[in-house]
Amino acid sequence: MKQNIFGMSLPQLQGCLKEFKLPAYRAKQIVEWMYQKHVLDFQQMTNLPIALRTSLTDNLDIFRVKLLEQQDSRDGKTSKFLLELVDGIAVESVLMRQSYGNSVCLSTQAGCNMGCTFCASTLHGMVRNLTQGEILAQALFINEVLNKEEQSINTIVIMGSGEPLANYDNVLNFIRLCHETYTMNLGYRHIAVSTAGIVPMIQELAKEDLPITLSISLHAPNNVIRSKLMPINDKFDIHAVVAAGKHYANITKRRVTYEYILIAGENDQAEHAEELSRLLRGQMANVNLIPINPVVERGLKRPSLNQIKVFEEILNNNHIAVTVRREMGNDIQAACGQLRNKHAAENQL
Ligand code: SF4
Repeated sequence: MKQNIFGMSLPQLQGCLKEFKLPAYRAKQIVEWMYQKHVLDFQQMTNLPIALRTSLTDNLDIFRVKLLEQQDSRDGKTSKFLLELVDGIAVESVLMRQSYGNSVCLSTQAGCNMGCTFCASTLHGMVRNLTQGEILAQALFINEVLNKEEQSINTIVIMGSGEPLANYDNVLNFIRLCHETYTMNLGYRHIAVSTAGIVPMIQELAKEDLPITLSISLHAPNNVIRSKLMPINDKFDIHAVVAAGKHYANITKRRVTYEYILIAGENDQAEHAEELSRLLRGQMANVNLIPINPVVERGLKRPSLNQIKVFEEILNNNHIAVTVRREMGNDIQAACGQLRNKHAAENQL
């Protein structure tokens, strides 16, 4: 099998091309074709000598991802892509056309083994980590879609299937790659990474000195509810997670976002909002309330609009910065993992 060069950084590609004894600028030309012009065939790289194009075609491969299915919401603002990787595994990526720009949500693992009870991605466990190139491939596939509309990606949220900090090196390499001028030239401040709360890895991330946004999936105001919703809480409890978030904010001077999925009858009561306020008081943080996208397989329900408003008001009254996530793509299978599960069931994977 020929070596796939898609996803390599410029220095990695230069290393790979050593045997061809090419001047250094050739690797630069190739990455620009792959990552900026979305050209995935050496023969179409017209500033390379014809003999070199043939030699590269004979020896190397460029595989990005293959589109298996696309679902667009009725309002046209959200598109969900089911993308096939080189070994036939499918992952999901989402494009959200927001008022402030185009945001994409990427997967970092095929499936997930964190076991969160509200999440479809974990229903069949984790198949494998994605490589830096496979994470980049999702972003660049969507960037090509946007480039055809003379637009591009403005923000990346690493919040799709998988626990990013359990695939730490690949995720960090990807973050550095999309900051490069030869890929998307995306500012670190436009990248957010989300974790279920792997405390030692949050501490590692704080040391990287990257001004990315850290998003922590909290989803509960105390250990009893959090352990019920997120088994990882039995390993790193809510107080350790919040302490790690505080440490990250202190080191990076970046506000941490706490994600809080509101589930009717589980974590959406006034007393929970009061308890959450006490937990986060004094932190450089904000809370993002996410009324649950009902997960068919799990039987979980969304709270009423009034209940969401009451919860938000209590946080506001306690001086906790809070936003309610705008609901996008509810008419397509927008909850993380739902489209992939449907595909697997239909194809008996
Ligand atoms: S919410 Fe995130 S960490 Fe939890 S199971 Fe789903 S993908 Fe994994």
